[in-house]
Amino acid sequence: MRIYGPVPSRRFGLSLGVDIVPHKTCPLDCIYCQLGETDCLQMEQETFFPIEEIIRDVKAALEEGPRPDVITLAGSGEPTLYSRLGELIDELKKLSSAPVLLITNAVLLTVPEVRAAALKADILAPSLDAGDEATFQKINKPHPDLNFNDIVTALIEVTNAHPKEVRLEVMLIDGINDDRQSIENIATITRQIKCDRIDINTPVRPPVPERGAMPCGEDTLELAKSILGPKATPIAKFEKRNHSKKPTHNFDDLDKNVRETLMRRPCTLHDICDSHHLTEADARNILERLLAAGIIQADNTEQGIYYRTTGKNPTVRKL
Ligand code: SF4
Repeated sequence: MRIYGPVPSRRFGLSLGVDIVPHKTCPLDCIYCQLGETDCLQMEQETFFPIEEIIRDVKAALEEGPRPDVITLAGSGEPTLYSRLGELIDELKKLSSAPVLLITNAVLLTVPEVRAAALKADILAPSLDAGDEATFQKINKPHPDLNFNDIVTALIEVTNAHPKEVRLEVMLIDGINDDRQSIENIATITRQIKCDRIDINTPVRPPVPERGAMPCGEDTLELAKSILGPKATPIAKFEKRNHSKKPTHNFDDLDKNVRETLMRRPCTLHDICDSHHLTEADARNILERLLAAGIIQADNTEQGIYYRTTGKNPTVRKL
């Protein structure tokens, strides 16, 4: 279990992340997953960590500040696998006025307890990448016990019953679900979903290269927007850079925070600057320390140099 941030999120503002399942424990094995292949393809819910510990750590992070815009249940696995999710959301709401955001792949909404918990989240952010079973299998590589039509039925039911905000995300993959017919198939479902907004995304950050999830073009994002309707917005764009900020933490903390960010997703130097309010020189120093310690690696990709963790996790000392 890890609490990370608050860090700026492209979709939700300043986010305090609460990671409540072990690394890559998920009922899906999406080809675009930034964390690589799923270690544990799991459908059964578990109380992976004591709820009291989670609450204690979130409380400490909130006291340390700054105040987040959202408290986000997401991270390095599927949060609806946490068996005490509804109770956890209730407790998180008592800690802060910041909305509790649940980011989910939506596949466990077929489980009544998960549906009940999802309705408690102030913001529900489910994903839908396919409009049919065959595409679901290709992109999301689900647990064999999952049934696409059952998931869609549950997603429609939960979103229509949700009392607050729903933000759907659709990930488009080049050559798999970015043709007109595939997007039309997704739109047939989204028309039945009650949501405030549809975020159209594509994997601009490099996923594990051998898994073949390539980004679609900007013209395809615009095509999807026209098909999915006025609530749809492409979000796969480069973020505004700001390198003038000063670091606000000591370097040991920053090394740890940067390492934790890279455990969740590969980042460029500029992503690290933006996420941690660092100057380029300071971010470069931190990355060099982590590289020298073998904790991260630098991948030279078509989209630029991305840093990711190697899985090694020793104590990092200042040089
Ligand atoms: S649902 Fe999320 S965590 Fe699970 S494999 Fe897909 S992208 Fe990764």
